[in-house]
Amino acid sequence: MIKDLPTPQEFEKLGLDCIYKSFEMLYKVSNAYSEASEDEIIKDDVPEKDYWNYNDITVRTSLIVLFQGVEYLMKKEVTEKSPLLLLENNKSDWPTLPDRKDKNFDELITISGENLLGVFCAVESENFDLESYVKKFEDLRIRRNKLVHSTGFNDLNYKSIVKDIIFFTSAFYHNTYWLDFFRSRFKSEPMFGYWDWDIEEAYFFTLLNFIKKSLSKKELNDYLPIDYRGRKFLCPNCTYWLTKNDDVESVPKWSFLNPNSPEAEKIECMICNGQYDIERADCENEECRGNVISKEEGYCLTCFSQQ
Ligand SMILES: [Zn+2]
Ligand SMILES: [Zn+2]
Repeated sequence: MIKDLPTPQEFEKLGLDCIYKSFEMLYKVSNAYSEASEDEIIKDDVPEKDYWNYNDITVRTSLIVLFQGVEYLMKKEVTEKSPLLLLENNKSDWPTLPDRKDKNFDELITISGENLLGVFCAVESENFDLESYVKKFEDLRIRRNKLVHSTGFNDLNYKSIVKDIIFFTSAFYHNTYWLDFFRSRFKSEPMFGYWDWDIEEAYFFTLLNFIKKSLSKKELNDYLPIDYRGRKFLCPNCTYWLTKNDDVESVPKWSFLNPNSPEAEKIECMICNGQYDIERADCENEECRGNVISKEEGYCLTCFSQQ
């Protein structure tokens, strides 16, 4: 008998852990540079490209960990049919006949890479876009193999890995899944909240800014629940907290009319995921041409002056 068969839930947890870790490694490099380069001397002396080159091993490791995470998620889907499909051993060698000694699943040889892809395609439903998935997976597998089995390659760019992270997360869940998933992981860091829970929560914008920097406008639009090409506003909640620590000029606009029309009565914030009632009135600040005011607190959501 084969004992300790793995479950889809175990593979899913491992897969999502790896995918977030792969992302977090890159985000932390980018964020460290953004923070340090607020100092004008560092900004002038250390180009961002040099900082990424210095962190080349982190970029390589991120791609390897991403591949690992994608394999786990594929194994999750296969295991939903049966974990036995993951075994590479000849079936005549399986420890399943009554006179054979029991073995644990992890003592047996499991499939990887190309063979896993074949089995995965066999179990996936018709709704899964296998054509684009297979192309992307093969591309990722080849790049990962170059890093692991050879001396690698020179044109590895962190942006391409961020694009892959978002693509694969979307393939297994849906196009905007990454947003809630990253937000909850961002807040689950054990040291999160010890400085100031509300301000730290609003700093999720740094992660959104990093995604924005890595994706084209069109790609970003495909992976957001709102129309990114629409007008952008300040969030009454996030901006309130962020301006306790920063100037309003440095607070990015990640809130959008919902729906994207002049009749909209709400805005939706990508940072905190909140929805807020708005009303239309010309801003009292003469230098501002904003006309969207938060109903409850009376902030102009263009310049954040109180009305
Ligand atoms: Zn917000
Ligand atoms: Zn204003």
